[in-house]
Amino acid sequence: MDTLASVPNSQSSFACLDFINSRWRDHRDGIGVYDRLPNPQWQNWFLERWRLRPEPGTGPLPLHDLVGARSALRALLESWASGQQPPAGEVAALDRILARSHVQRRLEASAGHLNLRDEPARRDWTWVLGELVASAAALAGAGPSARLKVCGNDLCSWLFWDESHNLSRRWCDAATCGNLVKVRNHRRRRRAQA
Ligand SMILES: [Zn+2]
Repeated sequence: MDTLASVPNSQSSFACLDFINSRWRDHRDGIGVYDRLPNPQWQNWFLERWRLRPEPGTGPLPLHDLVGARSALRALLESWASGQQPPAGEVAALDRILARSHVQRRLEASAGHLNLRDEPARRDWTWVLGELVASAAALAGAGPSARLKVCGNDLCSWLFWDESHNLSRRWCDAATCGNLVKVRNHRRRRRAQA
């Protein structure tokens, strides 16, 4: 049963990571694949957490576009993390998403202070998709790329941003994947000794 509570650490520093992690492999067998994107409970959680809820009347959730954006974002960020050239097709697809999302610039002024900010022309799904792409760019800007990691459990696909001082974090969650790998390694050593 997939409940939001069943996977720990389902919060990260960047919206794009929570978005990408909406699809993940079972960390125990590496075979089962779960996808929360179609799950209204997950959608609510995600849109609230990142303040990305579209205005009412702006159309249904574009599942197909979101699924496409999610796999393009994963490919982009994994190549960035490993220092490889980002795949051109995915970059072009994400660029098209940004080009469709319209933002307008606004000016705020107070004594001695001028502030220019971007705001969405319309809070619809085009805006949501654009914000997800922008979040990946913000992540890359926050670098270094060594902070972006896939969980150290080979069977787990969870992406996370390692905010530890010495980049020592290995697991999406030490209590689940960390323990699982420790137990697995222990059993392997015992079998090897037997
Ligand atoms: Zn993991």
